[in-house]
Amino acid sequence: MSHSRTLYIPFDHLHRDYGIIRDAKKSSDVILFVESERMRTGRNWHPERLFFLISSARHFAEDLRDEGFTVEYVKAPTTEKGILQARKRHPKSSLHASRQSSFRLQATLEALGCEFIENDFFLTPREVFEEWASSQKNYLMENFYREQRRRLNILMDNGKPTGGAWNFDKENRLPPPKNYKWPEYKGFSRDEIDLEVAQELAFEASPTWATTRAAALHQLKHFISRHFAHFGPYEDAMVLDSWSLHHSVISPYINNGLLHPQEVVDAAVKAFDMGKIPIESAEGFIRQIIGWREYINGMYWHLGSEYRNENHLKASRPLLPLFNSSQKTEMNCVRSIVSDVEKRAWVHHIPRLMVLSNLALITGTNPQQFLEWMRERFVDASEWVMVPNVIGMGVHADGGQMMSKPYAAGGAYISRMSEYCRGCSYNPKLRVGDDACPFTTLYWDFLDRNKELFAKNHRMFQQINGLKRLSDLPELRERAKEVLAGLDMGEI
Ligand SMILES: Cc1cc2nc3c(=O)[nH]c(=O)nc-3n(C[C@H](O)[C@H](O)[C@H](O)COP(=O)(O)OP(=O)(O)OC[C@H]3O[C@@H](n4cnc5c(N)ncnc54)[C@H](O)[C@@H]3O)c2cc1C
Repeated sequence: MSHSRTLYIPFDHLHRDYGIIRDAKKSSDVILFVESERMRTGRNWHPERLFFLISSARHFAEDLRDEGFTVEYVKAPTTEKGILQARKRHPKSSLHASRQSSFRLQATLEALGCEFIENDFFLTPREVFEEWASSQKNYLMENFYREQRRRLNILMDNGKPTGGAWNFDKENRLPPPKNYKWPEYKGFSRDEIDLEVAQELAFEASPTWATTRAAALHQLKHFISRHFAHFGPYEDAMVLDSWSLHHSVISPYINNGLLHPQEVVDAAVKAFDMGKIPIESAEGFIRQIIGWREYINGMYWHLGSEYRNENHLKASRPLLPLFNSSQKTEMNCVRSIVSDVEKRAWVHHIPRLMVLSNLALITGTNPQQFLEWMRERFVDASEWVMVPNVIGMGVHADGGQMMSKPYAAGGAYISRMSEYCRGCSYNPKLRVGDDACPFTTLYWDFLDRNKELFAKNHRMFQQINGLKRLSDLPELRERAKEVLAGLDMGEI
């Protein structure tokens, strides 16, 4: 049969009702997937991540075949070669796709003469974000979020925010509760496709990640019924006996298309409208989806392809050994969190921001090396989401284009928000001496090293001013040198 169109589906557009597949015709279109060798090898990709991405794509391709589509699932050295290979078999067909989610893949497809439709895997068309961004003095997420609430008419009552406020964070951000029973995370069983992919990758996949639309929907329903009501209060807490707490654990699925953000918002609003969810949890969660997620994607395109190379703080330390082995540190928080990443390629927002990125920031780790590590080790890491989150939010490498101040914190924050410090060899209250918490020492050392740079930042005034109260600054500088040397050796 000769086909008039080849529709290319990247591994992050796996939804039947969105993207180029939405209007596909069984009689005249060929559906093309490319599993590239470059995606699988050449970097230290976490096997859970590869397993999840590949198995999800193969399941989706299988569903389309079952529906009666002509599907080509090509394995090739690169995406470009795979597309060229498939096009040789359908020389008369034209190539079509939704706009891609990264600068690089978009450029590859453009060079191949692809015709595009809009990327509708987000709630905010790129022009709408551009219009907002180009009218702002600074890019405050909170301002964007309020615009989104109005534009999408979510949690609004007659033009006013539901509950009388835009944000209920005063009620949220609680430390871990005492004697609390966290619900168990059950995970998913494995089918033939999963087992085949795991075998090819030569590893045993954990039950953590869903690889089908039905299972991803199940996870969304489970979150809405079991966790959503409690999401807000404990969203920033870090505990030892639960890795998922009350988080939704759906980022991989919204990022690869198994779920669409509209479905997630609809489910959340419906539960709230039924009176089942307190406003602080409803608003807090909806802000993540219509605010943060959309803002990060908008900023990725707005800030451009060179943004990933920013290094405003001139941070040059090579990646610390502890990032690649949880055994290379005595710090309980980092060891537990890196060990969680090793197990399932995921930890929630606060360990990413306030422990891993914070450590990279205050040790002066090279932002690009840290970015590459995060890209490789997380199941939900796509280029568009990792780059602004790491470069802008995590390590302040963009000089404050996205966030007006760095998220630098000492051991006191980790001690308040987590259960890690109790069993740790280091004391979060101490900044000098052998038992001093490396976070506490390096937090002050970071402020000291960068005080001139932050002198004009009024949001940093209090923190920088705090340095004046330190009577032991010379001793602290010495301890910081020891700590950095120890971290470089993987011995702290
Ligand atoms: C340094 C750093 C790196 C990050 N890297 C990624 C990444 O590679 N992929 C990724 O999806 N998220 C990333 N995030 C954002 C956030 O940490 C994860 O989306 C979240 O932890 C996923 O868990 P969840 O699905 O349970 O989220 P929940 O806490 O339940 O939140 C719901 C959803 O909101 C969205 N969301 C919330 N915050 C953000 C944000 N800052 N950026 C984008 N989406 C957001 C996600 O889709 C998430 O699934 C990163 C954050 C930081 C600080």
